[in-house]
This record gives sequence, structure tokens and C-alpha cells, in this order.
Amino acid sequence: MSLERQKLTLPKGHDKLLLHSCCAPCSGEVMETLIESGIDFSIFFYNPNIHPVKEYLIRKEENIRFAQKHNIPFIDCDYDTDNWFARAKGMENEPEKGIRCTMCFDMRFERTALYAHEHGFSLISSSLGISRWKNMQQINDCGLRAAAHYPNIEYWDYNWRKHGGAVRMLEISKREEFYQQEYCGCVYSLRDTNRWRMSNGRDRIKLGVKFYSNAMDE
Ligand code: SF4
Repeated sequence: MSLERQKLTLPKGHDKLLLHSCCAPCSGEVMETLIESGIDFSIFFYNPNIHPVKEYLIRKEENIRFAQKHNIPFIDCDYDTDNWFARAKGMENEPEKGIRCTMCFDMRFERTALYAHEHGFSLISSSLGISRWKNMQQINDCGLRAAAHYPNIEYWDYNWRKHGGAVRMLEISKREEFYQQEYCGCVYSLRDTNRWRMSNGRDRIKLGVKFYSNAMDE
């Protein structure tokens, strides 16, 4: 491991955490940190943005496999893509990190906060912010907004990239040979990534074929 992991404690005396997870590569390091810190948590997988269903199932199964390996409860929530597309209407051509992404994070955090409220969790967080491709402030704003709907729910804005987290995220992905997704998730990010690849002389994305491995370093 590149940098020593910090032992964490939950803020303000909370006794357990509902962790929204977007995928195994992003949540692997978060999960290992929580486990090593002795924190009680459950994984909440709610990502109706992921398109198509083949990609959704690959990402979800990878996350389930890792959660089962560590005996972490995995809550598999709806794949309500109709709602996602309804909310994305009019934002089809927005760039990544723009208002469509704010909507997308809002939607995922809103469901996480609702589940927390209904199932006895008082603290939520997400693996979304560990990726350097994401705007952490944008994610934290969405998490805080969702939690603010409930007097008994708080959002934990811990920076999972800190203390080597971003480096270990990649190391764990290689060690576990996680599926390596090549676009953020929605049909529009798939379209835009393919456009970029083709204008740079690269092939279109092929779903389900790329996996992290230590051989990447050779
Ligand atoms: S680019 Fe990513 S975060 Fe933005 S709307 Fe699409 S799936 Fe959601």
C-alpha cells in the first residue's frame, strides 16, 4: 500500500453508515477503510443512470461480489431508469460536471437519504467523490441537500481521496481485477466518450471486456 490508511471514526457519535456505492472500483477503498476502522456500514446500490442494462448488471455484480467477500450487507435498490430519463429531459447535451450530473447525484442521494430515514440510519455518504474525474464540491452539495430533507439524517462529507485513498483505489481495483468501466455511466456519457474516442482515432467502447489487472503496470 502506498500511504498508510487512517483509522476513521464516524462523526458526531453516529453508530452506523449507509454508504451509497456507484461501483466496485470506487467503493473498494472506501469499504476497506471502513472495515479496518471497525465501522458498521451497509452498501446501498442505487444507480439508475447506468446504461445499458448490460453495463448496469456488470457493475452491480462486481460490487456484490466484493461486498459478499467481506460480509457487508448489500442493498440492491431499483433500476428505475424511466425516472432518471424523465429528470434528465432537456439536459441531454449538457457536459459532464454540469447540471445533468447535479440532477444525477441529487437523485441518487435522495433515494439514499429516504432509505436511511426509513431503515434506522442517521448517516449517509457515497463512494462517488473518490474519483478524480468528479467534482467533489458538486457531490457534497448534493449529499447535503438530500440529507437536509430529514431532521434525523446527516451527510458525511469525508474526503475519501485523502491519505492515499485515490492511489489505493487503483491498487485494490488491480488486485481484485475489477471490471474497468470506460465511461461515467449514462447513455449521454457513453455517447460523448465514444465521440471523443473516435475523433482521437480510437475504437468505440466495447462493454464488458476490460478489467483492471496488475499486468497493466508491465
Ligand atoms: S455523466 Fe455521469 S454523473 Fe453525469 S449524468 Fe451521466 S452518469 Fe450521471
